[in-house]
Amino acid sequence: MNTFEYDANPGRVIFGSGSIKKLPDEIRRLRLSSPLLLTTPRQANLIDLLESVLSSSSPSIKPAGTFTKATMHTPYHITQEALSYVQTITADCIVSIGGGSTTGLGKAISFNTGLPHISIPTTYAGSEMTATLGETKDGHKTTRHDRKILPGTVIYDVDLTTSLPASISATSGANAIAHAVEALYAPNGNPITNLLALEGIKALAESLPQIIQDPTSQPAREEAQYGAWLCGTSLGTVRMSLHHKLCHVLGGSFNLPHSETHTIVLPHALSYNAPAIPGAMAKLASVLPGSDGDAIKGLNALLEKLRVKRGLKEFGMREEDVQSAAEIAAENPYANPRQVDLELVKELIRRCWAGEEAR
Ligand code: NAD
Repeated sequence: MNTFEYDANPGRVIFGSGSIKKLPDEIRRLRLSSPLLLTTPRQANLIDLLESVLSSSSPSIKPAGTFTKATMHTPYHITQEALSYVQTITADCIVSIGGGSTTGLGKAISFNTGLPHISIPTTYAGSEMTATLGETKDGHKTTRHDRKILPGTVIYDVDLTTSLPASISATSGANAIAHAVEALYAPNGNPITNLLALEGIKALAESLPQIIQDPTSQPAREEAQYGAWLCGTSLGTVRMSLHHKLCHVLGGSFNLPHSETHTIVLPHALSYNAPAIPGAMAKLASVLPGSDGDAIKGLNALLEKLRVKRGLKEFGMREEDVQSAAEIAAENPYANPRQVDLELVKELIRRCWAGEEAR
């Protein structure tokens, strides 16, 4: 076995159906009492749920305030607005409930104010398991990495995921799989992260097609959330490569939707790297049903079952943007197992744009 370093992120996880009811105990365990509640406009109804859970506890906990403008890619101006709001209230912690957009805003406020952050994820994005914050300003996405960004407690309550529409479940699950796929060939990869990544991919590859058939299936939702947790943990413990760089550029500079972009790019980025990572390709194929030993075939089969869109042009990307996206991605590439070649990356993005199947 090669020598390796493994940094476990020190987060606490509360997992299981109905676990949102443990939120008041968790706030008290941390000796806190006045949470700021965060979510997106679309999930504003979850604030009522949180308020009801907090008020029915004994003694009841009164929120210090609510902010429901969390937005994808964590725009800088929204964070500034939230920070101004925080100055007008007396919150001693943050409770974020929602997908990666809400988690991202919770991380940004926590990082800037030092307030402890309890994250309650409702998608499979996995941001709650990482000490990374991506932020967008003036059409550029930047990321910062700091242990202080990691939420202190994560509550995974499967009941909050059954409302996630099948189409978003599919792409959000593929986003999680992408984290684990890149973990398998990360420059600082290690056997522990590999175990988590493979178990996470297996759980999602089994459960996501069941969710498409029946989005209310509790066992499938539980397995998917477990898989997303493990994939997010993989993302949080190793460095990412070409796939994440491309999605970062496409999301940050071309405002393409996060999970849908990950879903489209994943098989193409994997195909690009395949010649340099035979070991990772074999491991990945072993956990993808119907792969017959070929990870790309397995991924294509999974995406087919998930009925996802395969072309970036379907999300408004223009063909003339392919060149500049490739230039931004190749300009300052993440460490990657195969050399990042501008012309090859341009062709990769063109194939993603056109919706061609990865080979
Ligand atoms: P999202 O949080 O924007 O959610 C997508 C949509 O689904 C939103 O409208 C949301 O309100 C809705 N939604 C979420 N959960 C729902 C539910 N259970 N029922 C009904 N509707 C629901 O999207 P996302 O893909 O979860 O997160 C994307 C964001 O997360 C991006 O900004 C991305 O950069 C960030 N992210 C960061 C990391 C990290 O480690 N820093 C990792 C992954 C994603």
